Amino acid sequence: MNANDVAALLNSVDAVLLDFDGPVCSIFAGYPAHDIAAELVELLHRHEVDVPSHLAGARDPLEVLRWTGTTTDQRITRLVEDALCEAERRAVATAAPTPYGREVIVAARQAGLPVAVVSNNSAGAVSAYLAAHRLTGHVSPVIGRAYAEPERMKPNPEPISRAVRMLDVPPARSVLVGDSLSDIEGAHAAGVRVIAYANRPAKLDTFQAAGADVVVASMGPLAEALVAGAEQAESVGGSGRGRGDIRAPLRDSEDQAALPENGDRPADGSPRDTELLH
Ligand SMILES: [Mg+2]
Repeated sequence: MNANDVAALLNSVDAVLLDFDGPVCSIFAGYPAHDIAAELVELLHRHEVDVPSHLAGARDPLEVLRWTGTTTDQRITRLVEDALCEAERRAVATAAPTPYGREVIVAARQAGLPVAVVSNNSAGAVSAYLAAHRLTGHVSPVIGRAYAEPERMKPNPEPISRAVRMLDVPPARSVLVGDSLSDIEGAHAAGVRVIAYANRPAKLDTFQAAGADVVVASMGPLAEALVAGAEQAESVGGSGRGRGDIRAPLRDSEDQAALPENGDRPADGSPRDTELLH
């Protein structure tokens, strides 16, 4: 990654789409994903669903939901979906903010760029996190997992395409920031540019090989490039780079200080084995 690559890409888009778990926070930092996955598997057992052996040790609750969606019993899919939505809402209370994640959101808005979240987590959990972190006014739309239809999760491009339609921005003038192969694949299919956030070194080569436009090891360079863009927008009288009409005032004056007080430490020391997929 070259900082100039990040700035060049961000200077060439009119909207920023963020995956949630990874670029914004580690949602399962305090309520581990593998515990939730085990709870979902247990729920399936209680309903006498014949769970394949590979799910017995699943570390990712989305993997359990995705498998459940391949069964024919929609009632069971709804049960698992409801349990996962509830668990995600609980997890939000102990989620760990990603270093520079907040700064990226605030600085993008200051630079006149709309910010959306496109997540495989439930919209309710994402919105609860944004509210708890005073970010609600900066992010719209919030597109979460389609209820009990796990086949519509990324890498399905549909939620990404929906976000760019709602923002009325051409796909090629939008960028998705994500930390998984699902994000890269979904963005490619939607015709959206993609910045891959490799929050573990092992992901760097994988994301390069998958064809991400830019791969970063930290959200810091995005924040820096967006702050520079915001300063440029300020110096040309607030109209930014032709984005005057989509620039909305920041709601919270505390958010005006975009740049980082937090270090570039890992937000979550625990391994997340299925991060590459979700
Ligand atoms: Mg993610």
